[in-house]
Amino acid sequence: METRVVRMDRDNLRKEQFEEAVALLRRGELVAFPTETVYGLGGNALDPAASAKIYAAKGRPSDNPLIVHICDTDALSELAQDIPDGAWELAKRFWPGPMTMILKKKDIVPKETTGGLSTVAIRMPSDPIAAMLIRESGLYIAAPSANASGRPSTTRAEHVYEDLNGRIPMILDGGAVQIGLESTIIDLTGERPLILRPGYITLEDVRKVLPNAAYDPAVLRRKADDTIVAKAPGMKYRHYAPKGQLTVFEGSLENVTKAVRKNAAEKKAEGFRVAILASEETKDAYKGYTVCSVGDREDEAGIAARLFDTLREFDHMGADYIFGECFPTEGVGQAVMNRLMKAAGYHIEQV
Ligand code: AMP
Ligand code: MG
Repeated sequence: METRVVRMDRDNLRKEQFEEAVALLRRGELVAFPTETVYGLGGNALDPAASAKIYAAKGRPSDNPLIVHICDTDALSELAQDIPDGAWELAKRFWPGPMTMILKKKDIVPKETTGGLSTVAIRMPSDPIAAMLIRESGLYIAAPSANASGRPSTTRAEHVYEDLNGRIPMILDGGAVQIGLESTIIDLTGERPLILRPGYITLEDVRKVLPNAAYDPAVLRRKADDTIVAKAPGMKYRHYAPKGQLTVFEGSLENVTKAVRKNAAEKKAEGFRVAILASEETKDAYKGYTVCSVGDREDEAGIAARLFDTLREFDHMGADYIFGECFPTEGVGQAVMNRLMKAAGYHIEQV
């Protein structure tokens, strides 16, 4: 299959530009498109065959449910039932935006889309390309991140092409995304609202609307621990991972840079290709090594926007081993560390 890349300018969108993408979606085919979080791989959420194509194109395990994207809050009552008041309040505050809610599904949502679950994940994206695609198609769009399963999520069309070329008919190219990490997922089906996946919208933000919200314990995990089972099926897999083995060090910056240098030197001496995940504050401490800086340590949003790009950089370099530092968990930093831990397969050393 030939994959067409269609360039789009967010500030100058015309309906005609969406005609082909809409025709593909209505025929049950897939279209990748930018959202404000990461690129999504879209298909008709109410068509089990389209959902099956999404799983096949990504190589995604079939028990890992898809997020259904909408362009209108009213769609909530079409797709979900027993909707608590808190859900409407969250929608009012955070939609359109990087917030996904888990609710009890209605029968029209096929189990193929929800990975066999009786709940459904719903989000209204704010990116104008995503919003216009959903609106013009007249469909609900199931869209997981547009990466091959297990790899870092895609923040530019080039990365989507790298992973899915030949597997999908079309990519809408809107350039780099704004946020760079996937949406905050909030489960509203239990006694207490739970954040299953941290994102740009933080627990503090959510608590302004729902004061009793809390993290699912799996979110704060710092080591591989089989006794904590993540409530979001997707959060249990090794994920976001570069091809090389990533190890991160946590401790004072001085100890961390020392440990990174020591481990890097050992692997280099053994003949491996070594790369270092650093920040602006530390990059000069690693002279003589291949270093990628994700930005200023205090700029969590900047680090979030560059993290997945940087993890892919390591693959382009052919790194066998990557050593890196941990980052502050203020604000969106919590989401950054959650993705970094998973990318490292919980290879973390305290120093
Ligand atoms: P992605 O779209 O690739 O960012 O992945 C979607 C994430 O949402 C995965 O971690 C899923 O496990 C999670 N998810 C989707 N639907 C549900 C659901 N009904 N219950 C719990 N988690 C869900
Ligand atoms: Mg994903």
